[in-house]
Amino acid sequence: MKINEDFVKACRSFLEESQVLLDEPMSRHTTFEIGGPADCLIFPTTTKEVQQVLALVNEYELPLTVLGNGSNVLVRDGGIRGVVLKFNGPMSAIRLSGDGTHIVADAGAHLKDVSEFAAKNGLTGLEYACGIPGSIGGAIFMNAGAYDGETKNVAYAVRAVTRAGELKEYKADELGLGYRRSIFQGNGELICQVELALQKGDMAAIQAKIADFTQRRESKQPLELPSAGSTFKRPQGYFAGTLIDQTGLKGLTVGGAQVSTKHAGFVVNFNHATAQDVQGVIAEVQKRVLARHGVQLYPEVRMIGEN
Ligand SMILES: Cc1cc2nc3c(=O)[nH]c(=O)nc-3n(C[C@H](O)[C@H](O)[C@H](O)COP(=O)(O)OP(=O)(O)OC[C@H]3O[C@@H](n4cnc5c(N)ncnc54)[C@H](O)[C@@H]3O)c2cc1C
Repeated sequence: MKINEDFVKACRSFLEESQVLLDEPMSRHTTFEIGGPADCLIFPTTTKEVQQVLALVNEYELPLTVLGNGSNVLVRDGGIRGVVLKFNGPMSAIRLSGDGTHIVADAGAHLKDVSEFAAKNGLTGLEYACGIPGSIGGAIFMNAGAYDGETKNVAYAVRAVTRAGELKEYKADELGLGYRRSIFQGNGELICQVELALQKGDMAAIQAKIADFTQRRESKQPLELPSAGSTFKRPQGYFAGTLIDQTGLKGLTVGGAQVSTKHAGFVVNFNHATAQDVQGVIAEVQKRVLARHGVQLYPEVRMIGEN
């Protein structure tokens, strides 16, 4: 589908040229560095702009895809029809609020920046997020977690926009946060702002924890190659990486995609992989782990777009 020219003209009447990209390869906007072109990729800077774009998307009846930093997605090779709203970049303000233990961040704020902002202000609770390369909006959507923490433990409130363009506010217990799960996976709403509740802590202890997590990540994960992090969800009672390793699948290769030789839980793009290559590795891993261990693995990475 070529994007409707009137839609583009209407968007450009209130957005800068650089905020509206046409036929844009998604390989430039995902940590996997894979993905065909989006018909129209838009970077909003405010909630109001999100609402304005939504009104036009609805008026022109275009398909809509929402992304944060693109660190948990595999965009298929045919790309994405319609409009992609991508929240990282300009929509990323971070500030203290309330008694100084709450942080309010725009959805596109990078987790690393929010985690560093917390540390700089002597707030503890967000150290786990320092090495997760997503946005705070994406962290709510996925209930991202690592080491001793998960987003569920620090989420306080979320401001979102419905597909009809209405503002909605959720309290923490309304977010449906569970293992890699939130209500936003079902309701299609756009997370625009997130409020986190942290605790005052000891600055040196916070920094030490961040340094420890960073060192552990760098020594165990293939951060030198493009990926989307852990490819599979943790099956009940097992670790996906361990099962894959025990099945002898480290280094399994399809085209330019490979089960990392450093960490079996990661599929990496080691040589100009296509989405089809990655899907090939995923299918082979699922098949062989099921045959060897009787455990069905399900992808944590979200597949979007057309073949
Ligand atoms: C090297 C590496 C290490 C990683 N380590 C971890 C880890 O330790 N723990 C962990 O949990 N994850 C990890 N991840 C995966 C990923 O970073 C997280 O899932 C992260 O929360 C995704 O955020 P994102 O902004 O990149 O989301 P995206 O990948 O852009 O999107 C993921 C999903 O969230 C939705 N979404 C994103 N933003 C919004 C929004 N504002 N409103 C509505 N929907 C939205 C999208 O529609 C999509 O379905 C890792 C990834 C990499 C590449």
